[in-house]
Amino acid sequence: MTVLTDELTTLLGKKTATALGEALDLHTVGDLLRHYPRRYAERGELTDIAGLEIGEHATVMARIEKVDKRRMRNKPGWLTEMVITDGHRRLSCAFFGNNPQRDRELRVGRTGLFAGKVTAFRRTLQLANPEYQMLDGDDEASMDDFVGALIPVYPAAAGMPSWAIARCVRQVLDTWEREEDQMPGELRARYGLMDLFDALHAVHRPADRAVLASAEHRLKWDEAMSVQLIFAQRRYSTVSRPAPACPPRPGGIAEEFDQRLPFALTDGQREVGETIAADLSGEHPMNRLLQGEVGSGKTVVALRAMLQVVDAGRQCAMLAPTEVLAAQHARSLREMLGELGAAGELGAAEQATRVTLLTGSQPAKERKQALLDAAGGAAGIVVGTHALIQDSVSFADLGFVVVDEQHRFGVEQRDALRTRGADSTSPHVLVMTATPIPRTVAMTVYGDLETSSLREMPVGRSPIATTVVPVAEKPAWLDRVWQRVVEEVGKGHQAYIVCPRIGDEPPSNNGGSDRRPALAVLDVAGELENGPLSTLRLGVLHGRMPSDEKDAVMRAFAAGKLDVLVATTVIEVGVNVPNATAMVIMDADRFGVSQLHQLRGRVGRGSVPGLCLLVTETLDGTSTRERLGAVESTTDGFELSRLDLELRREGDILGAAQSGKRSGLKLLSLLRDEDLIAEARARAQEIVARDPALGDHPGLAHMVATVVDADRAEYLEKT
Ligand code: ADP
Ligand code: MG
Repeated sequence: MTVLTDELTTLLGKKTATALGEALDLHTVGDLLRHYPRRYAERGELTDIAGLEIGEHATVMARIEKVDKRRMRNKPGWLTEMVITDGHRRLSCAFFGNNPQRDRELRVGRTGLFAGKVTAFRRTLQLANPEYQMLDGDDEASMDDFVGALIPVYPAAAGMPSWAIARCVRQVLDTWEREEDQMPGELRARYGLMDLFDALHAVHRPADRAVLASAEHRLKWDEAMSVQLIFAQRRYSTVSRPAPACPPRPGGIAEEFDQRLPFALTDGQREVGETIAADLSGEHPMNRLLQGEVGSGKTVVALRAMLQVVDAGRQCAMLAPTEVLAAQHARSLREMLGELGAAGELGAAEQATRVTLLTGSQPAKERKQALLDAAGGAAGIVVGTHALIQDSVSFADLGFVVVDEQHRFGVEQRDALRTRGADSTSPHVLVMTATPIPRTVAMTVYGDLETSSLREMPVGRSPIATTVVPVAEKPAWLDRVWQRVVEEVGKGHQAYIVCPRIGDEPPSNNGGSDRRPALAVLDVAGELENGPLSTLRLGVLHGRMPSDEKDAVMRAFAAGKLDVLVATTVIEVGVNVPNATAMVIMDADRFGVSQLHQLRGRVGRGSVPGLCLLVTETLDGTSTRERLGAVESTTDGFELSRLDLELRREGDILGAAQSGKRSGLKLLSLLRDEDLIAEARARAQEIVARDPALGDHPGLAHMVATVVDADRAEYLEKT
């Protein structure tokens, strides 16, 4: 009797089991049965060859159109050249050596599965030395492996083609007996989920599409539950730690700051502020993600929270991704606080606190003083880069850490914070991000954080008008673009010109594609300087410049000593020059939707409406052009981030764990399964609240272990 925990060796023999283990990391019956088909070929329907990607290991169902066997010209031996087709396009294949069995099998007109790496040679697609399995004629074994009309196509590897996997699966399914379902019966009943036994049978050998859909629905639940159980456990272990409780203090600096605020908070700022205030009052650490677009007023929210913590007699750290941004934050916090932030200086308010900047590049004396302020408690707010936490900077009583820009601050860094508070408590953490994250991504990728959003902009923000400039269809518009830049500068404003590439890279083979390389900062700057923008003062900014040079350019631009900054996306994060009103993005189609949105947030920060021109050679009617059209027509960052999710492969969003060997979420779609994910999240939380270690739920514990493999779990932990 076979069960899910059995090793494959006993069932399939050492040779096959080893091959499965090495090629696909499948070791147990459970692993193999959770290795779902990637898609299903319909019997009689050939694979669309146009959809293949160069470099991928593909399995295609195709018909043999031509076979030509001959002696090689300049070497001894035989060469068989074969052309297979889907009825429209062709793939050429080559086999070396003399193989009479192959000659018998590969005959013109026959249909089969062919697997191998897709390459391109002089514009012809090739499958070199493919493995194959004929699907028609007298080949008994093959007919037996694929009973139904739907032929499973598995994620495969060289030496372990799809049909060999199908054969192993069949062998395992034949001896596997119904065992207790890993998913509690109560959940299955509540959501009408198919039994695991039936679902795994159906997903590998579906009778029809309807049964397949029910099976997939059940297996999606397994994925959603597994991921959410891991997050629930993480949250549980975080929130069960002690944290410094920081309840608001009546008459404190926080109240005084609110009274002095020169504007009214937006509803969103007030609501999020209340949530955070309640979190900070608690005895367990807050772990919250605050999303809101650039300019939505996150910094004010963070500062108000920090003042509550200062009122409780504790310190705050604010972390930025770069030293430049840290310095900028320190400056703007001091500005906002005014005399409330000038403790120790003349004219400070009575209950003032001190904002201290602490970076690695400070002069030794300044740094020493900053370290003393942090360790002695004189600094209520210490601003720095992430090094502040990683290094051995000591705090008198750290209660709260604010992190600006999520992506560079993962679980690992949050873990480093765990015991940084006084008496080894965990400080409260607020992570801020300006990239709107769709709800499902937040739940799946940042699942251990609670989330809050600022969706409205404070009043009085200038709108940004975005226009697509289709230079392939309307070449004259490009001149008009440069004219507009000259006009903006004529009005006393400044402009950014963004390019996808720096331009000092060694030439690459361009991934085998014949697309021209993207426009580069150095080239474009040169052409503009000697051409249409020769009357303006141009500066160049990119990530490979030494940091003092970068700072100098940024300062010159901020001070109005440069009219135009030609830059890469280094300006995406945090650069704030209100006088910059125009942005031209070259080869705009090479950027993601969210990224374009993020970039244009750099203009229109002042009182004058911003202008963003998306220059592209893409043609009307293409999907890329549609994407740019979306950026043109809406400024709702959440809508755009959802669109991004639709367009990008989900694997890119889930990140790392993509190295050929697929792991983790195979069936679950972050786009389509939002409700399912939300339900699973709620149920996982309930289960973990009662049974944190899943000791009473051995089935679930085992499911988590097989569905989310070790690498993937590691990844989730470190995101
Ligand atoms: P973010 O950090 O989200 O990019 P900031 O907090 O820096 O946004 O706010 C952007 C600008 O808007 C700042 O100059 C800030 O003083 C101002 N601001 C913030 N909240 C409001 C508000 N409720 N009303 C008017 N102006 C605001
Ligand atoms: Mg900000």
